[in-house]
Amino acid sequence: MPETTPRGLTGLAFGGDYNPEQWPETVWDEDVRLMREAGVTMVSVGIFSWALLEPSPGVYDFGWLDRNLDLLHNAGIRVDLGTPTVAPPAWFYRAHPDALPVTEDGVRLEFGSRGAICHSDTDYRAAAANITTRLAERYGDHPALALWHVHNEYGVPVSACYCDSCAAHFRRWLRREYGTVDAVNEAWGTAFWGQRYAGFDEIGPPRRTPTVGNPAQALDYRRFADATMRENFTAERDILHRLSPGVPVTTNFMTALSQCDSVDYWAWGREVDLVTNDHYLITDGRRTHVNLAMAADLTRSVAGGAPGCCSNTPPRESTGSPATPPRPPARWPATPWRTWPAAPRARCSSSGASPGAAPRSSTPRCCRTAAPAPASSAR
Ligand SMILES: [Zn+2]
Repeated sequence: MPETTPRGLTGLAFGGDYNPEQWPETVWDEDVRLMREAGVTMVSVGIFSWALLEPSPGVYDFGWLDRNLDLLHNAGIRVDLGTPTVAPPAWFYRAHPDALPVTEDGVRLEFGSRGAICHSDTDYRAAAANITTRLAERYGDHPALALWHVHNEYGVPVSACYCDSCAAHFRRWLRREYGTVDAVNEAWGTAFWGQRYAGFDEIGPPRRTPTVGNPAQALDYRRFADATMRENFTAERDILHRLSPGVPVTTNFMTALSQCDSVDYWAWGREVDLVTNDHYLITDGRRTHVNLAMAADLTRSVAGGAPGCCSNTPPRESTGSPATPPRPPARWPATPWRTWPAAPRARCSSSGASPGAAPRSSTPRCCRTAAPAPASSAR
Protein backbone atom coordinates (compact mmCIF):
# COMPACT_ATOMS: atom_id res chain seq x y z
CA MET A 1 0.00 0.00 0.00
CA PRO A 2 1.64 3.30 -1.05
CA GLU A 3 2.43 5.81 1.64
CA THR A 4 0.05 8.81 1.67
CA THR A 5 1.84 11.05 4.15
CA PRO A 6 4.93 12.99 3.06
CA ARG A 7 7.94 11.42 4.65
CA GLY A 8 9.44 13.15 7.64
CA LEU A 9 6.95 15.94 8.19
CA THR A 10 6.32 16.70 11.83
CA GLY A 11 3.92 19.60 11.47
CA LEU A 12 1.84 21.40 8.94
CA ALA A 13 4.02 22.12 5.98
CA PHE A 14 4.63 25.64 4.80
CA GLY A 15 6.58 26.66 1.71
CA GLY A 16 6.44 26.94 -2.02
CA ASP A 17 8.21 26.30 -5.30
CA TYR A 18 11.92 26.85 -5.15
CA ASN A 19 13.87 27.14 -8.40
CA PRO A 20 17.52 27.38 -7.33
CA GLU A 21 18.73 26.63 -10.83
CA GLN A 22 17.44 30.02 -11.95
CA TRP A 23 19.80 31.86 -9.63
CA PRO A 24 23.53 31.99 -8.88
CA GLU A 25 24.57 29.37 -6.40
CA THR A 26 26.13 32.16 -4.35
CA VAL A 27 22.66 33.23 -3.14
CA TRP A 28 21.45 29.80 -2.05
CA ASP A 29 22.65 30.25 1.51
CA GLU A 30 20.67 33.46 1.74
CA ASP A 31 17.66 31.73 0.18
CA VAL A 32 17.68 29.08 2.83
CA ARG A 33 18.33 31.58 5.63
CA LEU A 34 15.28 33.58 4.53
CA MET A 35 13.20 30.43 4.25
CA ARG A 36 14.05 29.53 7.82
CA GLU A 37 13.26 33.06 8.90
CA ALA A 38 9.88 32.78 7.18
CA GLY A 39 9.10 29.45 8.78
CA VAL A 40 9.34 27.47 5.54
CA THR A 41 9.39 23.74 6.15
CA MET A 42 9.00 22.32 2.66
CA VAL A 43 9.75 23.36 -0.92
CA SER A 44 9.17 21.94 -4.38
CA VAL A 45 12.37 21.61 -6.38
CA GLY A 46 13.37 20.59 -9.88
CA ILE A 47 10.05 20.72 -11.70
CA PHE A 48 11.53 22.29 -14.85
CA SER A 49 15.13 21.14 -14.52
CA TRP A 50 15.49 18.45 -17.17
CA ALA A 51 17.80 20.53 -19.39
CA LEU A 52 20.15 21.08 -16.45
CA LEU A 53 20.00 17.55 -15.14
CA GLU A 54 20.59 15.99 -18.56
CA PRO A 55 22.35 18.69 -20.61
CA SER A 56 22.87 16.32 -23.52
CA PRO A 57 21.53 12.84 -24.26
CA GLY A 58 22.70 10.41 -21.63
CA VAL A 59 24.96 12.97 -19.94
CA TYR A 60 23.85 13.89 -16.42
CA ASP A 61 24.73 16.67 -14.03
CA PHE A 62 23.31 16.07 -10.60
CA GLY A 63 25.96 18.03 -8.73
CA TRP A 64 23.97 21.24 -8.35
CA LEU A 65 20.89 19.36 -7.16
CA ASP A 66 22.99 17.30 -4.74
CA ARG A 67 24.32 20.50 -3.20
CA ASN A 68 20.93 22.16 -3.05
CA LEU A 69 19.11 19.21 -1.48
CA ASP A 70 21.89 18.81 1.08
CA LEU A 71 21.65 22.52 1.89
CA LEU A 72 17.91 22.26 2.39
CA HIS A 73 18.24 19.11 4.45
CA ASN A 74 20.82 20.67 6.72
CA ALA A 75 18.39 23.53 7.30
CA GLY A 76 15.59 21.14 8.20
CA ILE A 77 13.55 21.90 5.08
CA ARG A 78 11.78 18.99 3.44
CA VAL A 79 11.67 18.56 -0.34
CA ASP A 80 8.88 17.81 -2.79
CA LEU A 81 11.08 16.68 -5.67
CA GLY A 82 9.79 17.12 -9.19
CA THR A 83 10.26 14.87 -12.15
CA PRO A 84 10.99 17.42 -14.89
CA THR A 85 9.04 15.69 -17.62
CA VAL A 86 6.89 18.71 -18.42
CA ALA A 87 9.91 20.44 -19.96
CA PRO A 88 12.03 18.21 -22.22
CA PRO A 89 15.31 19.82 -23.29
CA ALA A 90 15.93 21.40 -26.69
CA TRP A 91 18.21 18.52 -27.68
CA PHE A 92 15.32 16.11 -27.19
CA TYR A 93 13.08 17.95 -29.64
CA ARG A 94 15.92 18.31 -32.12
CA ALA A 95 16.25 14.53 -32.12
CA HIS A 96 12.51 13.86 -31.89
CA PRO A 97 10.55 16.69 -33.51
CA ASP A 98 7.46 14.49 -33.70
CA ALA A 99 7.20 14.77 -29.90
CA LEU A 100 6.01 18.35 -30.34
CA PRO A 101 2.21 18.54 -30.16
CA VAL A 102 -0.07 19.46 -33.06
CA THR A 103 -3.16 21.63 -32.74
CA GLU A 104 -6.53 20.71 -34.19
CA ASP A 105 -5.68 23.05 -37.08
CA GLY A 106 -2.60 21.00 -37.92
CA VAL A 107 -0.06 23.46 -36.53
CA ARG A 108 2.88 21.85 -34.78
CA LEU A 109 3.79 23.87 -31.69
CA GLU A 110 7.43 24.76 -31.14
CA PHE A 111 9.96 24.48 -28.36
CA GLY A 112 10.57 27.59 -26.29
CA SER A 113 7.92 27.64 -23.63
CA ARG A 114 6.87 24.60 -21.63
CA GLY A 115 4.50 21.70 -21.81
CA ALA A 116 5.01 21.15 -25.55
CA ILE A 117 4.37 17.43 -25.38
CA CYS A 118 2.63 14.82 -27.48
CA HIS A 119 1.76 12.29 -24.79
CA SER A 120 1.43 9.49 -27.35
CA ASP A 121 4.98 9.90 -28.58
CA THR A 122 7.02 6.81 -27.75
CA ASP A 123 10.33 8.69 -27.73
CA TYR A 124 8.94 11.14 -25.16
CA ARG A 125 7.65 8.28 -23.04
CA ALA A 126 11.01 6.56 -23.11
CA ALA A 127 12.94 9.72 -22.28
CA ALA A 128 10.53 10.61 -19.46
CA ALA A 129 10.87 7.14 -17.97
CA ASN A 130 14.64 7.39 -18.20
CA ILE A 131 15.05 10.75 -16.41
CA THR A 132 12.51 9.64 -13.78
CA THR A 133 14.49 6.46 -13.21
CA ARG A 134 17.75 8.39 -12.90
CA LEU A 135 16.24 10.78 -10.36
CA ALA A 136 14.68 8.00 -8.33
CA GLU A 137 17.93 6.03 -8.27
CA ARG A 138 19.88 9.05 -7.08
CA TYR A 139 17.44 10.68 -4.66
CA GLY A 140 14.97 7.94 -3.76
CA ASP A 141 16.35 7.68 -0.24
CA HIS A 142 17.73 11.21 0.16
CA PRO A 143 17.02 12.37 3.72
CA ALA A 144 15.41 15.60 2.50
CA LEU A 145 12.93 13.82 0.24
CA ALA A 146 9.35 13.94 1.54
CA LEU A 147 7.24 13.69 -1.60
CA TRP A 148 7.56 13.06 -5.34
CA HIS A 149 5.97 15.60 -7.65
CA VAL A 150 5.42 14.14 -11.12
CA HIS A 151 5.34 16.48 -14.13
CA ASN A 152 3.37 19.71 -13.68
CA GLU A 153 -0.27 20.54 -14.20
CA TYR A 154 -1.17 17.82 -16.69
CA GLY A 155 -3.51 19.21 -19.32
CA VAL A 156 -1.98 22.67 -19.29
CA PRO A 157 -1.10 24.39 -21.55
CA VAL A 158 -1.78 21.65 -24.11
CA SER A 159 -4.95 19.70 -23.39
CA ALA A 160 -4.76 17.42 -26.40
CA CYS A 161 -2.54 16.73 -29.39
CA TYR A 162 -3.97 15.99 -32.83
CA CYS A 163 -0.93 14.48 -34.56
CA ASP A 164 -0.80 11.23 -36.53
CA SER A 165 0.69 9.33 -33.57
CA CYS A 166 -2.23 10.42 -31.44
CA ALA A 167 -4.61 9.44 -34.25
CA ALA A 168 -3.23 5.88 -34.21
CA HIS A 169 -3.31 5.84 -30.42
CA PHE A 170 -6.91 7.09 -30.49
CA ARG A 171 -7.92 4.24 -32.80
CA ARG A 172 -6.39 1.71 -30.41
CA TRP A 173 -8.23 3.37 -27.53
CA LEU A 174 -11.52 3.20 -29.46
CA ARG A 175 -11.04 -0.49 -30.16
CA ARG A 176 -10.60 -1.12 -26.44
CA GLU A 177 -13.56 1.03 -25.51
CA TYR A 178 -16.03 -0.07 -28.17
CA GLY A 179 -14.83 -3.35 -29.64
CA THR A 180 -16.38 -2.78 -33.07
CA VAL A 181 -16.60 0.14 -35.42
CA ASP A 182 -20.37 -0.36 -35.55
CA ALA A 183 -20.49 0.40 -31.84
CA VAL A 184 -18.57 3.61 -32.50
CA ASN A 185 -21.01 4.56 -35.26
CA GLU A 186 -23.91 3.94 -32.92
CA ALA A 187 -22.42 5.94 -30.04
CA TRP A 188 -21.35 8.83 -32.23
CA GLY A 189 -24.56 9.03 -34.27
CA THR A 190 -22.61 8.96 -37.49
CA ALA A 191 -25.75 8.49 -39.58
CA PHE A 192 -26.01 12.27 -39.29
CA TRP A 193 -24.43 14.06 -42.29
CA GLY A 194 -23.11 10.78 -43.68
CA GLN A 195 -20.26 10.43 -41.18
CA ARG A 196 -20.47 6.62 -40.94
CA TYR A 197 -17.16 4.72 -40.69
CA ALA A 198 -16.56 1.33 -42.32
CA GLY A 199 -13.42 0.58 -40.29
CA PHE A 200 -11.32 1.92 -37.42
CA ASP A 201 -8.61 2.97 -39.86
CA GLU A 202 -10.96 5.67 -41.21
CA ILE A 203 -11.30 7.38 -37.84
CA GLY A 204 -9.11 10.31 -36.84
CA PRO A 205 -8.97 13.01 -34.17
CA PRO A 206 -11.63 15.73 -34.26
CA ARG A 207 -9.46 18.06 -36.31
CA ARG A 208 -10.79 21.31 -37.78
CA THR A 209 -13.80 20.67 -40.00
CA PRO A 210 -15.72 22.91 -42.42
CA THR A 211 -18.56 23.34 -39.98
CA VAL A 212 -19.66 21.86 -36.68
CA GLY A 213 -17.86 18.61 -35.95
CA ASN A 214 -19.25 15.50 -34.30
CA PRO A 215 -19.61 16.33 -30.59
CA ALA A 216 -19.48 12.66 -29.53
CA GLN A 217 -16.18 12.25 -31.36
CA ALA A 218 -14.86 15.36 -29.63
CA LEU A 219 -16.01 14.09 -26.25
CA ASP A 220 -14.33 10.73 -26.76
CA TYR A 221 -11.17 12.50 -27.83
CA ARG A 222 -11.15 14.41 -24.54
CA ARG A 223 -11.52 11.09 -22.73
CA PHE A 224 -8.72 9.59 -24.79
CA ALA A 225 -6.40 12.57 -24.20
CA ASP A 226 -7.04 12.36 -20.46
CA ALA A 227 -6.38 8.61 -20.42
CA THR A 228 -3.16 9.11 -22.39
CA MET A 229 -1.81 11.68 -19.94
CA ARG A 230 -2.78 9.40 -17.07
CA GLU A 231 -0.88 6.53 -18.70
CA ASN A 232 2.23 8.69 -18.61
CA PHE A 233 1.64 9.75 -15.02
CA THR A 234 1.16 6.18 -13.81
CA ALA A 235 4.28 5.07 -15.69
CA GLU A 236 6.37 7.61 -13.77
CA ARG A 237 4.54 6.89 -10.52
CA ASP A 238 5.24 3.17 -10.80
CA ILE A 239 8.96 3.82 -11.37
CA LEU A 240 9.04 6.01 -8.26
CA HIS A 241 7.14 3.47 -6.17
CA ARG A 242 9.59 0.78 -7.21
CA LEU A 243 12.80 2.76 -6.68
CA SER A 244 11.73 5.04 -3.83
CA PRO A 245 9.43 3.00 -1.60
CA GLY A 246 7.78 4.80 1.28
CA VAL A 247 7.71 8.18 -0.43
CA PRO A 248 4.26 9.21 -1.73
CA VAL A 249 3.78 10.35 -5.30
CA THR A 250 1.52 13.15 -6.46
CA THR A 251 1.02 15.62 -9.27
CA ASN A 252 -0.46 19.07 -8.90
CA PHE A 253 -4.05 19.46 -10.07
CA MET A 254 -5.86 22.57 -11.24
CA THR A 255 -9.41 21.85 -10.30
CA ALA A 256 -10.79 25.29 -11.01
CA LEU A 257 -10.42 28.10 -13.52
CA SER A 258 -11.46 25.79 -16.37
CA GLN A 259 -7.85 25.49 -17.43
CA CYS A 260 -7.77 21.71 -17.54
CA ASP A 261 -10.82 20.82 -19.57
CA SER A 262 -9.34 17.53 -20.75
CA VAL A 263 -8.60 16.22 -17.28
CA ASP A 264 -10.93 13.94 -15.32
CA TYR A 265 -9.64 14.74 -11.84
CA TRP A 266 -11.88 12.17 -10.18
CA ALA A 267 -10.11 9.47 -12.18
CA TRP A 268 -6.73 11.03 -11.37
CA GLY A 269 -7.63 11.18 -7.70
CA ARG A 270 -7.61 7.38 -7.66
CA GLU A 271 -4.09 7.27 -9.11
CA VAL A 272 -2.18 9.71 -6.90
CA ASP A 273 -1.07 8.80 -3.38
CA LEU A 274 -2.45 12.09 -2.13
CA VAL A 275 -4.44 14.80 -3.87
CA THR A 276 -2.79 18.18 -4.26
CA ASN A 277 -4.12 21.25 -5.97
CA ASP A 278 -2.89 24.58 -7.25
CA HIS A 279 -4.72 27.82 -6.87
CA TYR A 280 -3.96 31.02 -8.70
CA LEU A 281 -5.17 34.33 -7.40
CA ILE A 282 -7.09 36.18 -10.08
CA THR A 283 -8.23 39.72 -9.41
CA ASP A 284 -9.60 40.83 -12.71
CA GLY A 285 -13.03 41.66 -11.37
CA ARG A 286 -14.50 38.20 -11.45
CA ARG A 287 -15.80 36.63 -8.27
CA THR A 288 -12.45 35.34 -7.10
CA HIS A 289 -13.74 34.10 -3.77
CA VAL A 290 -16.30 31.95 -5.56
CA ASN A 291 -13.59 30.39 -7.65
CA LEU A 292 -11.51 29.71 -4.56
CA ALA A 293 -14.45 28.10 -2.78
CA MET A 294 -15.28 26.00 -5.82
CA ALA A 295 -11.68 24.84 -6.13
CA ALA A 296 -11.65 23.83 -2.47
CA ASP A 297 -14.91 21.92 -2.79
CA LEU A 298 -13.82 20.19 -5.97
CA THR A 299 -10.51 19.20 -4.45
CA ARG A 300 -12.23 17.73 -1.42
CA SER A 301 -14.47 15.75 -3.74
CA VAL A 302 -11.55 14.60 -5.88
CA ALA A 303 -9.77 13.41 -2.73
CA GLY A 304 -12.77 11.25 -1.89
CA GLY A 305 -12.92 12.56 1.64
CA ALA A 306 -9.31 11.76 2.41
CA PRO A 307 -7.14 14.43 4.00
CA GLY A 308 -5.61 16.64 1.44
CA CYS A 309 -5.56 19.86 -0.32
CA CYS A 310 -3.26 22.65 -0.96
CA SER A 311 -3.01 26.15 -2.18
CA ASN A 312 -0.96 27.63 -4.93
CA THR A 313 -0.82 31.38 -4.89
CA PRO A 314 1.83 32.56 -7.30
CA PRO A 315 2.04 36.29 -7.81
CA ARG A 316 2.32 38.05 -11.13
CA GLU A 317 6.08 37.71 -11.18
CA SER A 318 5.55 33.97 -11.39
CA THR A 319 2.53 33.60 -13.67
CA GLY A 320 2.91 36.60 -15.95
CA SER A 321 -0.83 37.17 -15.67
CA PRO A 322 -1.83 40.82 -15.35
CA ALA A 323 -4.84 39.65 -13.35
CA THR A 324 -2.68 38.12 -10.67
CA PRO A 325 -1.68 40.64 -8.02
CA PRO A 326 1.98 41.40 -7.43
CA ARG A 327 3.36 41.09 -3.93
CA PRO A 328 5.28 43.81 -2.18
CA PRO A 329 8.70 42.45 -1.24
CA ALA A 330 7.89 42.54 2.44
CA ARG A 331 5.13 39.99 1.90
CA TRP A 332 7.10 37.50 -0.13
CA PRO A 333 8.10 35.32 2.77
CA ALA A 334 4.53 35.28 4.02
CA THR A 335 2.71 34.55 0.80
CA PRO A 336 3.53 31.10 -0.50
CA TRP A 337 2.39 28.33 1.70
CA ARG A 338 0.85 24.97 1.86
CA THR A 339 -1.04 23.07 4.47
CA TRP A 340 -2.50 19.67 4.95
CA PRO A 341 -4.55 19.34 8.09
CA ALA A 342 -4.87 16.03 9.84
CA ALA A 343 -8.62 16.47 9.89
CA PRO A 344 -10.55 13.68 8.18
CA ARG A 345 -11.66 16.02 5.43
CA ALA A 346 -9.61 18.14 3.14
CA ARG A 347 -9.28 21.78 3.91
CA CYS A 348 -7.83 24.38 1.60
CA SER A 349 -6.11 27.44 2.79
CA SER A 350 -5.73 30.74 1.09
CA SER A 351 -2.83 33.06 0.65
CA GLY A 352 -1.59 35.84 2.82
CA ALA A 353 -1.29 33.95 6.09
CA SER A 354 1.83 34.65 7.98
CA PRO A 355 3.95 31.66 8.87
CA GLY A 356 3.75 32.60 12.50
CA ALA A 357 -0.02 32.53 12.38
CA ALA A 358 -0.23 29.32 10.39
CA PRO A 359 -2.02 26.53 12.23
CA ARG A 360 0.05 23.73 13.60
CA SER A 361 -0.93 20.13 13.94
CA SER A 362 0.65 17.35 15.90
CA THR A 363 -0.28 14.87 13.21
CA PRO A 364 0.34 16.70 9.99
CA ARG A 365 -0.60 15.42 6.61
CA CYS A 366 0.83 17.35 3.80
CA CYS A 367 1.12 20.13 1.48
CA ARG A 368 1.60 21.19 -2.06
CA THR A 369 1.68 24.53 -3.69
CA ALA A 370 3.64 26.17 -6.39
CA ALA A 371 4.11 29.65 -5.08
CA PRO A 372 7.67 30.88 -5.31
CA ALA A 373 9.99 30.60 -2.40
CA PRO A 374 11.16 33.79 -0.80
CA ALA A 375 14.61 34.88 -1.70
CA SER A 376 15.33 33.67 -5.19
CA SER A 377 11.96 34.32 -6.70
CA ALA A 378 11.78 37.78 -5.24
CA ARG A 379 14.83 38.95 -7.06
ZN1 LIG B 1 0.34 13.67 -30.67
